[in-house]
Amino acid sequence: MLKAEVSPFIENNESSVFSSQQLYWLGKAKAFAEAIPLEDIINADTQNVFRRDLFEAACQEGFGDLPFPTTYGGSGGDYVSFCLVNEEFARCCVPIMSSLGVHVLCQEPIYRFGTPEQKDRYLPLSSSGKYLAAFGLTEPGAGSDTAAISTTARLIGGEYVLNGTKTFITSGGVADYYIVMARLAGFDGLVDSDARSITAFIVERGFPGFEIGQKFDMLGMRGYSTCELVFNDCRVPKDNLLGQPGWGRKVALSSLGKGRVTIAAQATGWAQGALDCILRHLRQGHAEGHLDPAMGGLASLVGELAILVEAARVLTHQAARKIDNGDTDVVLAGMAKVQATDTAMTVATEAVSIIGPHGINPQLLVERIFRDAKAGQIYEGTNQIQRMLIARHLLQ
Ligand SMILES: Cc1cc2nc3c(=O)[nH]c(=O)nc-3n(C[C@H](O)[C@H](O)[C@H](O)COP(=O)(O)OP(=O)(O)OC[C@H]3O[C@@H](n4cnc5c(N)ncnc54)[C@H](O)[C@@H]3O)c2cc1C
Repeated sequence: MLKAEVSPFIENNESSVFSSQQLYWLGKAKAFAEAIPLEDIINADTQNVFRRDLFEAACQEGFGDLPFPTTYGGSGGDYVSFCLVNEEFARCCVPIMSSLGVHVLCQEPIYRFGTPEQKDRYLPLSSSGKYLAAFGLTEPGAGSDTAAISTTARLIGGEYVLNGTKTFITSGGVADYYIVMARLAGFDGLVDSDARSITAFIVERGFPGFEIGQKFDMLGMRGYSTCELVFNDCRVPKDNLLGQPGWGRKVALSSLGKGRVTIAAQATGWAQGALDCILRHLRQGHAEGHLDPAMGGLASLVGELAILVEAARVLTHQAARKIDNGDTDVVLAGMAKVQATDTAMTVATEAVSIIGPHGINPQLLVERIFRDAKAGQIYEGTNQIQRMLIARHLLQ
């Protein structure tokens, strides 16, 4: 008889593995996720609409700034807590989860590299949810190869003037400000094409010359207003340069090193959500007397999937603990991201197969997890690229 209920690792280790503060955040996340009607979750996906009200409610609960100090309004939690929240949100397909992850990813470099004025201007409003942030790195001709970005910034008359296009930007159509990477022309004698010229800027939605481009209607990760951003002689005040000229890659890495751990947590949640669906289906079939989980190799498969989920969770928490120890490890973050998103894809695929025709019934959410998990293997660095980076590090 299959025994496990949801999140067995978390349930079984509540007293020994997690601090009371981490359990507090887990409890809050569970309550928040369970209060969202299933119909709302399905509608955000099918209608491809972003739920700003839910995002603001999540920020009011302290999820939008959870891993940041209280100085600028942060919740003062740790990264393990943020992972537990993300895992719980993904398990229930909370429709603002990905925007929340990116929102935190964007505040990170402001905390780290921002001027006091930038911190005052953007962080408290981000904490309260009045401002939503998005991250603009990818371009039509530069995804995996970020050094190939062609958006330019030129200092003209005391302002930076940006030209170019960013694509597949989560929250792109609804954000209030964007962390944007562009090549700074003429910086330190470097030519525009030199990767060392990449510089980070904070661009507000209302800046002249900023436009929202095409909105994408994707297979998965729907409801996040994923869009193109167009910079058409976009004028950015000089004070909105983030960090120093030429620090763009450093700024991006500070965000992505943590962002990949967030994605690993989300993917662990998808995997757990899909496993929960399998277990519920098998228990019900067993209770009704038409399904014996021990037959046909199903029990062995379920055991295998459960092992994969726990492995993803352990690796993710390991990467999060390193962040909490002040030692963000981009290689470990990449490993966690690959392991967890591949696991989510595997478990979701098996779930759809085992559950049969009902596996593609949106009411069960497993078909949404199946579609979202595919996107998880692609964004913030594809899993193929992550493997190459891990190997390159080991071979150094
Ligand atoms: C849902 C979603 C949300 C996203 N949100 C954001 C966001 O908020 N901000 C942002 O900046 N970007 C975002 N992205 C973009 C995402 O980060 C990129 O799609 C990703 O980095 C891959 O880049 P690409 O699409 O250009 O693919 P490509 O780089 O063209 O890669 C295509 C394929 O080729 C493989 N490949 C590429 N180079 C190599 C190589 N050298 N060797 C072997 N294989 C290779 C890749 O692994 C991949 O399988 C998002 C994407 C998605 C799908």
